[in-house]
Amino acid sequence: MGVEVIVCGLGPAGRAVAHRALAAGRDVTVIDPHPDRVWTPTYAAWADELPEWLDSGVVAAVDAPTAWAVGEHRIDRVYQVFDTAALQSALTLDGATVIADRAVEVDAREVRTAGGLTRTGQVVDARGLARSAHRAEQTAYGVVSARGELAQTLFMDWRLDNGADPDDPPSFLYAVPLSADTALFEETCLAGRPALAPEVLRRRLEHRLRARGIALTGAEPVERVRFPVQGGTPGGGRFGAAGGLTHPATGYSVAAALAAADTVVTGGTVWTPRARAVAALRRAGLRALLALPPREVPVFFEVFFGLPAPLQLSYLSGHSDLGGTLAAMRALFADLPPNLRRAVVTSVIGASGR
Ligand SMILES: Cc1cc2nc3c(=O)[nH]c(=O)nc-3n(C[C@H](O)[C@H](O)[C@H](O)COP(=O)(O)OP(=O)(O)OC[C@H]3O[C@@H](n4cnc5c(N)ncnc54)[C@H](O)[C@@H]3O)c2cc1C
Repeated sequence: MGVEVIVCGLGPAGRAVAHRALAAGRDVTVIDPHPDRVWTPTYAAWADELPEWLDSGVVAAVDAPTAWAVGEHRIDRVYQVFDTAALQSALTLDGATVIADRAVEVDAREVRTAGGLTRTGQVVDARGLARSAHRAEQTAYGVVSARGELAQTLFMDWRLDNGADPDDPPSFLYAVPLSADTALFEETCLAGRPALAPEVLRRRLEHRLRARGIALTGAEPVERVRFPVQGGTPGGGRFGAAGGLTHPATGYSVAAALAAADTVVTGGTVWTPRARAVAALRRAGLRALLALPPREVPVFFEVFFGLPAPLQLSYLSGHSDLGGTLAAMRALFADLPPNLRRAVVTSVIGASGR
């Protein structure tokens, strides 16, 4: 059986590790103040990021998405929206000891809970990331509505038909089909410190959908998004968002956590030197993005989505392809117009002085 695995936090990252540890025949204890909390966010991921062991029944919709920056770009890659309830229940916890409590002292070998329990073993700290004024956040306001004219998934649509001034902090439309008839339309602030307020995003979304002939009744189910895209520290048994797995450019971490769960269970190293270098480069990429003048953000993404597909993939996915990440950043920098190159260089120099 080996050492007991003690997972703190039953979000996607903790649940994935607990599930895989059980599948490997390990003794598992899970600790979460709300272990039965039902996940509600609409999670999505690139299909090629997901591990083979994941049940194919967790998928709600699949598409090769489009990105609109200045122009239209078809992304030749399969993107899938999870059926969130199916994903949660596919990550079964049968056989685990479930403790409804708050872990208050956690290190790689021992956990103490608010209720006074102490457990010793291989500790996985997947308690997520707390909000902080120092951390850039992603925010979004979405509605589930009739699909209307939405023919394909919009991974990012930066067109300015959302009523915002080009010099205001920008947001994009994210739109994914959920069924044959319905879609989630989400106005998204990719990253901001502070990020755009839900009310601003709601107004922009309504403006944009009106402009596209999609009438809302006001009775649509709403999805609100707010989570940090910066922060998380590798080491100490931390995993998922707590362990720094969130991609700073997209806010995604669910697929990365699913893919890395077996490495954690087998005691392998998620954060190899290469992975740490990739994470540092991507953090620099986020700083550059945050420093861009708002009206230039679509230009930045026009260049990004014009890169060869393998370079886009290296930047957006995986966490240890150092050569690919560097090549993507070099190619992006080379193709940026001079004013954006200056903004990027200034953001990097400014950060190194801190
Ligand atoms: C609406 C929405 C849509 C999103 N869409 C996507 C998407 O499409 N793709 C994607 O990859 N990401 C998406 N995200 C981001 C994603 O939700 C997070 O990156 C992900 O949940 C991080 O997973 P995690 O398990 O590391 O942490 P969390 O999901 O934050 O889970 C942390 C868990 O720890 C528990 N916990 C907290 N404190 C303690 C404690 N003291 N002791 C024990 N347990 C504790 C919490 O109860 C919780 O269950 C979305 C987020 C939102 C809000």
